[in-house]
This record gives sequence, C-alpha cells and structure tokens, in this order.
Amino acid sequence: MSNKNDIGNRCVKCGEDTSFGSGRFVNRIPADATYEALDKNGNIIFKEGEYRDGYACAECMAFECCRCDEMIPMDEDVTPYDCGSEEAEFSDGAYRVHHECLTEIEKLHFEEING
Ligand SMILES: [Zn+2]
Ligand SMILES: [Zn+2]
Repeated sequence: MSNKNDIGNRCVKCGEDTSFGSGRFVNRIPADATYEALDKNGNIIFKEGEYRDGYACAECMAFECCRCDEMIPMDEDVTPYDCGSEEAEFSDGAYRVHHECLTEIEKLHFEEING
C-alpha cells in the first residue's frame, strides 16, 4: 500500500515540484501541513485538514509585509524586535515589514541596533 500522505518533492503549500532542477530546490525545507492551500486561480490544491508530508519552497516561506502587502524575501523581514522594541507589534499593529516600509524613526532604531 502506498502512502498517500507523502507528496515527495512537492511543496505542501503551493503544490509545486521542489526537486533538484525545478528551480525551487534551493532553500526548500522539509515540511508538513494540514491547512487548505489554493493555487493562484483560487482552485483548491489541498483540502482543509488534508495531511501531507513534503517540502515548503522558499517562495511559500516568504512573509507578507503588514504595511504594503507585498511578500518579503526570506531573512529580509524586519520585526519590532529588530528595532530594539520589546513589543511584538509596531505602534500601528504591524509586526513584520520590509526595511523600506519602516518609518523614519523605526529606521533610525533599526540602524542603531544593526549598525
Ligand atoms: Zn511552495
Ligand atoms: Zn512592505
């Protein structure tokens, strides 16, 4: 009997192939998921509660910026912690933004912390 939950080299979130040569091999991480996943056209790739075991591609690990709604590339996100704040959120409720989306004050704090 084959294990239907193992989706091999496919991304658990976007369903794309992450195998070597696919262009998504770099920065992929082993992952599993049970949440609903939709493709760009809104079609369901994985149903809510459907367990699958595979990988997460770098694209799917990117975060959405709280201020401009664009995706932030991995490792380029800025959190209040990066600006020396003890709070989990910036004063406007944002918690993860692009560096260029920081306010002037936040940028100053960020430079102070990160040199
Ligand atoms: Zn993906
Ligand atoms: Zn942004």
